[in-house]
Amino acid sequence: MGVDDTALLTIGAFARAARLSPKALRLYDELGLLPPARVDPLTGYRFYAPEQLDQARLVAWLRRLGMPLARIRRVCEATDTGAAAREVRAFWAEVEADLATRRDLAAFLVDHLSRKEPLMTPTTQAAHPLEIRYAALSDAGLVRESNQDTAYAGAHLLAVADGFGPRGASAGAAAVDALKRLEADGIPAGGLLNVLEDAVEQAGRAVRGVATADPSTGAAGTTLTALLWTGSQLALVHIGDSRAYLLRDGEFFQITHDHTLVQSMIDDGRLTPEEAASHPQRSLLARALGTDGAATPDLRLHDARAGDRYLLCSDGLSTVVPTQEVRQVITATDDPEQAVRELVDRANRSGGPDNVSCVVADVCEASGR
Ligand code: MN
Repeated sequence: MGVDDTALLTIGAFARAARLSPKALRLYDELGLLPPARVDPLTGYRFYAPEQLDQARLVAWLRRLGMPLARIRRVCEATDTGAAAREVRAFWAEVEADLATRRDLAAFLVDHLSRKEPLMTPTTQAAHPLEIRYAALSDAGLVRESNQDTAYAGAHLLAVADGFGPRGASAGAAAVDALKRLEADGIPAGGLLNVLEDAVEQAGRAVRGVATADPSTGAAGTTLTALLWTGSQLALVHIGDSRAYLLRDGEFFQITHDHTLVQSMIDDGRLTPEEAASHPQRSLLARALGTDGAATPDLRLHDARAGDRYLLCSDGLSTVVPTQEVRQVITATDDPEQAVRELVDRANRSGGPDNVSCVVADVCEASGR
């Protein structure tokens, strides 16, 4: 390698120049991240070349970034600075995705824990028991040959799944089927967190089972937006770009966040909502249930209130029918059956370019059979 021995620095001198401890340098050497330019065969002393200073600083900074050692090695071994930059960027994208998931989980837990108390007060205990009235409808639309959407509404579960890929219909159906177990079992008192964990786990596993059943057919996966009814709360499980809306006290608002690439660009301020609406890649998902087992859904709890109306829908409704029009139908149509029929109708009257699915559920005081 033609090391100029006269320019070599002792480990002490190099450590001072690199603003690192000799101990750190010995560690980097042992880990293969920064081998000395020369090791004296007799004394075992380590010597470093001045050109190694940048590398030493880079390793120290990557460690400060929290990068695991195996990945630091990949950055160090990168053949050019462009490849090294890509390694760092990929690592940071993973950190941010992980952080976003953890932030959502933290918010969910804060929510869950702060709701526990009021539920136990006598006033809420004495409240009238609530139930849901619901309807679901899924339609292929006017352009697509098959329907890859799944819509379901039952006594404990409301769900919409929008499958994609060659086995998309099976993927969506598998995710919803996995949750249907809750219809039979119900949600045990005090067991909501476990039920959610199991539901998410089983839906993910069911979709992976479909997605990997025949690898030759290519990637398959699904969105999933579901509400689990506990009798006093609705637990939301959401991944992808299907949506949930809530109509409460005349206000109609989206309670899910689209997991699309354009939505993350909006969040970053790189795109306006208007630009996103016509973006050619607006349907590209940032998260979905599929072969990537690490993709986790958002979880949220909503206290049920008599008079609330929930709408779940696939993007075949939300990207085709303007929100104002959806709101108008949801507000004006009393019967859930009629509401889902009207919404699907509106999508098809606008050309029905995609499969369209709607679930409408009303929270009402139990009729006391
Ligand atoms: Mn769709």
